[in-house]
Amino acid sequence: MPTVAELRNAIRTIPDFPEQGIQFKDITPILASPALLSTAIHELAAPFADSGITKVVGIEARGFILGPLLAQELGAGFVPIRKKGKLPAETVSATYELEYGSDTVEMHADAVLASDEVLIHDDVIATGGTAAAAADLVRRAGGSVLGYSFLLELSFLEGRSRLDKEIPYHALIRVNE
Ligand code: AMP
Repeated sequence: MPTVAELRNAIRTIPDFPEQGIQFKDITPILASPALLSTAIHELAAPFADSGITKVVGIEARGFILGPLLAQELGAGFVPIRKKGKLPAETVSATYELEYGSDTVEMHADAVLASDEVLIHDDVIATGGTAAAAADLVRRAGGSVLGYSFLLELSFLEGRSRLDKEIPYHALIRVNE
């Protein structure tokens, strides 16, 4: 089984994508390797294994890649948060600032129940705006946020400080540049 250090080494940095000045963290080399993918899911799930998570909420688009695998590993369901206008049934919505631009995201209003214990997942946490918006949607739909889970934290952007301090937070890999 590969180590977390090997996961870290597999992430590629693409300069100036999608805009000048953004150092884009590309996780696709992890996805392409069965062994790295397996380690990633195992290590993401481990801190939340016995915490009673019933739903993993993943954020479009790259929260849809590891999110459902993480949900399956935890024996939970998966709920997508999508860009405005993509979900067909009644939604709740939130607008927030991104590292590059601003965005509105939506979740089906009935996707999370009052009894649900929700883990919010995305591949990368940058400024934390997306994850904070996701938590807002989960609460407005009536659910409880039990944790935050990210493959990669861009520590220098201090996204973690935008999330609730009292809720368990796990970033498998941290980079400071
Ligand atoms: P934020 O709301 O600033 O935390 O941005 C997080 C979202 O943007 C996540 O969905 C990431 O997938 C994506 N993202 C932001 N910055 C980067 C980056 N430097 N490399 C890869 N993805 C990023």
